[in-house]
Amino acid sequence: MSETEKSLRETLAAAGKRLVEDNLVQGTWGNFSVRLDEKRMLVTPSGLDYLSLTPDDMVAVDIESLEYAGGLKPTSEKKLHAAIYKGRKDINAVIHTHSEYCSAAAAARVDLPADTDEIRRLVGQNIKCAAYGLPGTKKMTVAALAALDGRNACYLANHGAIAIGVSLENAYAVCLALEFHTKNFIELAVMKKTGIKNFSDKALLAVFRGKLETAICYD
Ligand code: 13P
Ligand code: ZN
Repeated sequence: MSETEKSLRETLAAAGKRLVEDNLVQGTWGNFSVRLDEKRMLVTPSGLDYLSLTPDDMVAVDIESLEYAGGLKPTSEKKLHAAIYKGRKDINAVIHTHSEYCSAAAAARVDLPADTDEIRRLVGQNIKCAAYGLPGTKKMTVAALAALDGRNACYLANHGAIAIGVSLENAYAVCLALEFHTKNFIELAVMKKTGIKNFSDKALLAVFRGKLETAICYD
């Protein structure tokens, strides 16, 4: 194994732990990858706890054929990751999350304006929500690629979000900024709807999802 591959495997394992610490993934949901070389990507295995993932657990997958070697099954979203590496030659890392606020925006199927300099620089002109497709399917992949066109992030309808970048570090920065930006948008939407500020996180999400009574109980 090359030194580059070793180092990428270590970077991926460390990113998994950071994603859990930053509350950007729930349970074993989500997945992420880096471009390994011209033909292959290195992806997280399917359905495993990020805190116990080791560098050796990452799976090298052929971007064209989706073939892989070794004992662990690659993420069920390998098609999505491969399509992004094929369609976006400038991109070397993909992170798919089910983070709280992005998932709420994805459930509401909203497109968000990129109205701060930071989000515009990191993501592009706006954040689009890709049309619905079942997880892991070609339909979801095609919709995601369309929503990512000219952008570095999008929501996946009723599912979660994707952040992409020239490096894993860059995609991570996109991911964090996207969750923060989405939370701000939801806070503003809820404030407009209720006239109330300072909801707890749980209540904020409940109001955004339209369950005002539950939200008032939480506070
Ligand atoms: P995997 O555990 O197979 O990566 O699936 C998680 C997920 O988020 C599917 O969309
Ligand atoms: Zn998912």
